[in-house]
Amino acid sequence: MIAVYAGSFDPITYGHIDIITRSSRLYERVVVVVSKNPTKRPLFTVDKRMEQIRKSTEHLPNIEVDSFSGLTVTYARMRQAQVLLRGLRVLSDFEKELQMAHTNKTLADDIETVFLATSTEYGFLSSSLVKEIAQFGSAIGHLVPPHVVLDIEKCYAKTPP
Ligand code: ADP
Repeated sequence: MIAVYAGSFDPITYGHIDIITRSSRLYERVVVVVSKNPTKRPLFTVDKRMEQIRKSTEHLPNIEVDSFSGLTVTYARMRQAQVLLRGLRVLSDFEKELQMAHTNKTLADDIETVFLATSTEYGFLSSSLVKEIAQFGSAIGHLVPPHVVLDIEKCYAKTPP
């Protein structure tokens, strides 16, 4: 069975990596898809985010990385994936995620959304939190892999807050 894990991943964090690692044991193939969202202003380009994800998951043989502009269900259909994977952290995620799952069900009844609960240690972690901490010069090595730390440091060295 193929699962699609779509998101912004701006940048990928240990929270995302935890979801990817655990789902790689559940599905034959997991495709991590960087969604091109025209309403968001990302810190990293789509190509950079894909490179960061590839490097973070290179030890997992059944993970593929791609990008897509459009509805996630359209991408899932194209790849003949049966599952849309999402991670759940706090109660506030739940409302948004449930609405999205219901919407996707109306668009593609044959595709199921599967939620994986965050591991306790990553329940607080989000990409925006990482960027906020880094912007103010604090350490983020416990939140993202070393190569992502370097990328973020380069970004903020160019544009100090
Ligand atoms: P989006 O813009 O689609 O929310 P994100 O990159 O923020 O993209 O998140 C992608 C998915 O990963 C979402 O389902 C989100 O809830 C989940 N996720 C993000 N951070 C964590 C975390 N620390 N633990 C578990 N799931 C997470």
